[in-house]
Amino acid sequence: MHHPPVAAGQTARRDRRLLTVTALVEFLITASARLVPTGTYFSDLTPYTYSEHESGGLNVSWLSDEHPYPRGKAPDGLVDALVRLAKDKVNVYRGSHFCELCPTFLEAQKNNYIGGTFVGSGEIHVPGEGSVLYIAPAMIAHYVRDHSYLPPYDFCHSALSTHSAG
Ligand SMILES: [Zn+2]
Repeated sequence: MHHPPVAAGQTARRDRRLLTVTALVEFLITASARLVPTGTYFSDLTPYTYSEHESGGLNVSWLSDEHPYPRGKAPDGLVDALVRLAKDKVNVYRGSHFCELCPTFLEAQKNNYIGGTFVGSGEIHVPGEGSVLYIAPAMIAHYVRDHSYLPPYDFCHSALSTHSAG
């Protein structure tokens, strides 16, 4: 049986349109997820200015795929301490954030949780030496575990002491 050429042409056009729409939706999902964290990069130990409600804090771990960051072997127990701190995270109202350093969006989505603890939103606050308050995204646990991020020495030390004290 011979299909009329017009009908075949319509089917092909519809398939092409469907493909285009699917590709566009995928592109938008990926692009919006990647765009959310833009503008939240701060280098370590700069004054925290992200929210006017917190003054006197120091930034730690506000990483971006557009900036190099310190790498190295983190002290033993640091990831556990950070995950534990992430259970008591603050400022969670800012919405979900996906890791920009993960190679794929699916992987970034998966890494929004570490051992059942959500790290895709909110901050952890760690008191340091003197009156210092370190402010890091909860995502820091993932950065240290999976992207070899090495936070400043005093932050690591303070996070580990906070964890042991708690
Ligand atoms: Zn990642």
